[in-house]
Amino acid sequence: MADIAIRGLTKVYPGGVRALDALDLDVAEGEFFALLGPSGCGKTTLLRTIAGLERATDGTIRLDGTDVTRFPPGRRDVGMVFQDYALFPHMTVLDNIAYPLRVKKAGRADRRRRAKDAADLLGLVGLDGRRPAELSGGQQQRVALARALVAEPRIFLLDEPLSNLDARLRLEARTQLKRLQLHLGITTVFVTHDQAEALALADRIAVMEAGRIRQLGTPVEVFRRPANLFVAAFIGSTPMNLLDGTVRGASVAVAGAELPVPADARDGIPDGADVVCGVRPEYLDYSGDPVDSAFVGTVSVIEHLGGSSLVTLDGEDGPVRVVVAEGREPEPGAEGWAVPRPGRVLLYRDGELVTASEPAMAPSSKDGGHG
Ligand code: ATP
Repeated sequence: MADIAIRGLTKVYPGGVRALDALDLDVAEGEFFALLGPSGCGKTTLLRTIAGLERATDGTIRLDGTDVTRFPPGRRDVGMVFQDYALFPHMTVLDNIAYPLRVKKAGRADRRRRAKDAADLLGLVGLDGRRPAELSGGQQQRVALARALVAEPRIFLLDEPLSNLDARLRLEARTQLKRLQLHLGITTVFVTHDQAEALALADRIAVMEAGRIRQLGTPVEVFRRPANLFVAAFIGSTPMNLLDGTVRGASVAVAGAELPVPADARDGIPDGADVVCGVRPEYLDYSGDPVDSAFVGTVSVIEHLGGSSLVTLDGEDGPVRVVVAEGREPEPGAEGWAVPRPGRVLLYRDGELVTASEPAMAPSSKDGGHG
């Protein structure tokens, strides 16, 4: 196990693409860390640079205090699992898993025993003699993980390892991966563009955009208090409502409603400031009767989410979406009110979350302020 300390890491590809831009990041020993962001933001480049498969243009990478920036991949002691598992098609499951030990010139009996242990740990019992083509996608993924595991790396680097799986298998594999990481406690950096996956798995998440980290925090922090409009728009299965408003004294005039300025933003914002008011559909309650300090509109669309529905209210300044419990859905065409829950309205000014110098609502007990 090891911790990772990255300072000023920059990667400029030949041709001038700046894939990483003076990035700082600390990953704690034993942490399950997700790199999340849209396509092209630099996630894979960051992972490959940590592994030593890409050469940093500038900056440093330390593993357990040792500067490995110029080390070749073999000297870094990291295990990497890619999107395509790259299993050897002509080898059996057991030989695939044992391969890194063969490279390290371990004895035959030792290789077999350790490969079997890793196969057992990943629930591959009874599949030892099969070839990759005779396995399901989920089993192939586990063989790839077992193969990375036998080498007993200090760090696991996983690049979208679940992306080849269908939706159901992906959920199962995700749970297994979480269980495995908890069990082994190996420092793991995990790349995904799927925010639900990052929220579900990670101890902490770095949300990236254009080679930089836009927010670093626990899943709860990133979900509840996105630090800027980029993260606010990116995180959440049902997108956050982002509505233009203006501060008037102790209230915000937004989408026809007058909402109190959140307590934690009060001394951070001048009268008359233009703001964007952010509130998640999950943090609004629907009412069929008039309510003060609520968004009003006409019910236009009802989308079933399973145990709840997403209701769109068309208001005078645009749509507002609210999650409504099963069986409570209004009729299309009805007039409805969306009532924000206390402490769940966020204000953004110039794209950044407005917070008081002393936040009134601590986002979580964990400190996300590494790096
Ligand atoms: P995705 O989710 O699509 O895999 P990503 O966030 O992992 O994207 P990277 O693959 O790290 O992003 O790419 C970051 C940027 O660097 C992109 O603009 C990409 O086009 C560019 N890039 C990646 N690899 C190379 C390369 N070998 N040569 C030149 N440019 C590259």
